[in-house]
Amino acid sequence: MTKRLTGFQPTGNLHLGNLLGAIRPLVVGQERATETIAMIVDLHAMTMEHDPRTLRACTLEVATLLLAAGVDPKRTALIAQSQIPEHTELHYLLECTAAHGEAARMIQFKEKSAAGGPVRLSLLTYPVLMAADILLYDAQEVPVGDDQNQHLELTRTLALRFNARYGETFVVPEGVRPESAARIMDLAEPTRKMSKSTAGEAGRIGLLDPPETIRKKISRAVTDTAGVVRHDPEHQPGISNLLAILAECTGERPGIYPNYGALKRDVTEAVDALLAPIRKGHAELSEDPGYVREVLAEGKTRVRPAALATVRRARAALGLLD
Ligand code: AMP
Repeated sequence: MTKRLTGFQPTGNLHLGNLLGAIRPLVVGQERATETIAMIVDLHAMTMEHDPRTLRACTLEVATLLLAAGVDPKRTALIAQSQIPEHTELHYLLECTAAHGEAARMIQFKEKSAAGGPVRLSLLTYPVLMAADILLYDAQEVPVGDDQNQHLELTRTLALRFNARYGETFVVPEGVRPESAARIMDLAEPTRKMSKSTAGEAGRIGLLDPPETIRKKISRAVTDTAGVVRHDPEHQPGISNLLAILAECTGERPGIYPNYGALKRDVTEAVDALLAPIRKGHAELSEDPGYVREVLAEGKTRVRPAALATVRRARAALGLLD
């Protein structure tokens, strides 16, 4: 059985792009014979200035949203990274096989450290923690977007090097494109990706946005003056994005539209039909926060033996006493 690992940052603002590009492929993957681990990467959220209360709340919020969006804890192990101490142990063991230059040339480290202010050491080393996250569970498949390719390559390099130097220890993972290659663009600025980090909310449809907010955001989505509804991302990025959202939400090719208003009405309906059950599920789950914690504890129990076995193999290979 193929093992697949998907990670989610515990940040607020989960949006329609996250749902279509990452959460839904994970939910669809459950239907196939793929053993899936969905991991909330809370340790990665500490590589930048963070607020402890927000981190705790966001970790539970993302777990709640994943469950509301269809992650089935019977089929998918839902875990919080920090609750399984082998992540940090393997991180250190791998650091002892990685070079400083390998971490320092990561584009995300360069970009984030160039933003100014004090740079946490963990920002430099977190790609090695990411390698530990993946190698710990013998994951064969890791869905990666373009921005994560470099990190997956580092994981593969470290695994191959470790196996060659210290003996066969790790499964070398492959990056796979998420089934849905959907890249949802910002509604207010359709040439950039819909993102958690954009300051304004107008271009981002939050997974918990009420119907009236969704309607307003879509009705104000930036279009163009061509007046023709067609898929032409270069010349009509806004309309093309709305067509893509419609196709993704309904699973069908959009029909012919006489004008932008009619298209926007159908997009609103389709988005709301997709998000309404998630809002409802989230509201129900929020009434019982103990349940979400139980799911995480169960996930931990399920994956821990594999994590312990990997760390034991790595320790022995490196010459550490058992
Ligand atoms: P991030 O929001 O960057 O933490 O990404 C979490 C996951 O959602 C990753 O797998 C991304 O590829 C996916 N994702 C983020 N933004 C979008 C978007 N606008 N369209 C499609 N997928 C996205």
